[in-house]
Amino acid sequence: MNGETLHVEKVEVVYKRVITAVQGVTLSVAPRQIVAILGNNGAGKTTMLRAISGFLGLDDARVTEGSISFAGARIENRAPYQIAAHGVVLVPEREKVFPNLTVSENLAVPVSRRGGSTERTLSRGDHVYELFPRLAELRQRVAGLLSGGERQMLAIAAALMCQPRLLLVDELSLGLAPVIVRDLMRRLLAIRDELGIAILLVEQSAPIALAIADYAYVMENGRIVLDGDRDRLKSHRDVQEFYLGQASGERRSYRLVKQYRRSRRWYG
Ligand code: ATP
Repeated sequence: MNGETLHVEKVEVVYKRVITAVQGVTLSVAPRQIVAILGNNGAGKTTMLRAISGFLGLDDARVTEGSISFAGARIENRAPYQIAAHGVVLVPEREKVFPNLTVSENLAVPVSRRGGSTERTLSRGDHVYELFPRLAELRQRVAGLLSGGERQMLAIAAALMCQPRLLLVDELSLGLAPVIVRDLMRRLLAIRDELGIAILLVEQSAPIALAIADYAYVMENGRIVLDGDRDRLKSHRDVQEFYLGQASGERRSYRLVKQYRRSRRWYG
């Protein structure tokens, strides 16, 4: 079962040959595991997902050190379509669905790009509609008219049409109401439990991610500063205070987190 593991080893990512955004990051995702990368703005989370999915090139960035492999194949600095062929698929931001196409047309696009047959598209589509019954109701609606939550469902469903073994999910919760986010998280659990797909998700909100992740890594300034299974992180003092906001009974602001970091640098 170890075959379909993602291994990221001591990876460094540099934008435009000068800006080092990620340094010495090592992480792994085992088959059927849900893993989260947590951290505040600018920590390097999205850069890590782009490095794994091959979308760094669009921003003139590269993996300059270390290696990324999935199921034994090296995938760093490969094109997104080559990485998707290995089974590693990024759920694009919900704004990246095709607004002028209907829901069912959006779902057909990933398969037609890979040269799939119409019958296979239809049967895969049926499967996806079972996971997302709301999309089945909306299949003739143009994506531009969907709500934020429905568009996010469509983005996940379109990624599933590529038959991933590892799904990469970037900031699913951004701008969505808590009730919608809880529903989407339940669906991610179903995707893991029913389809056996591993998931690596990036989140600023630790409570949301730790509700479903088996294991998590905390990033600050391009490095991993803490990692552990869900229970270890939930009971870790720094995570409680600065990511779960439990010490004061409410979530601390980023300003306070920054002050804390500064004091650690000067006096720590
Ligand atoms: P957020 O939650 O705000 O998306 P993040 O943890 O995902 O933050 P990244 O977007 O990966 O962080 O950014 C990490 C670092 O890389 C930041 O210092 C950022 O300024 C830099 N960076 C990101 N994109 C680019 C780019 N296109 N060109 C240059 N630097 C970039």
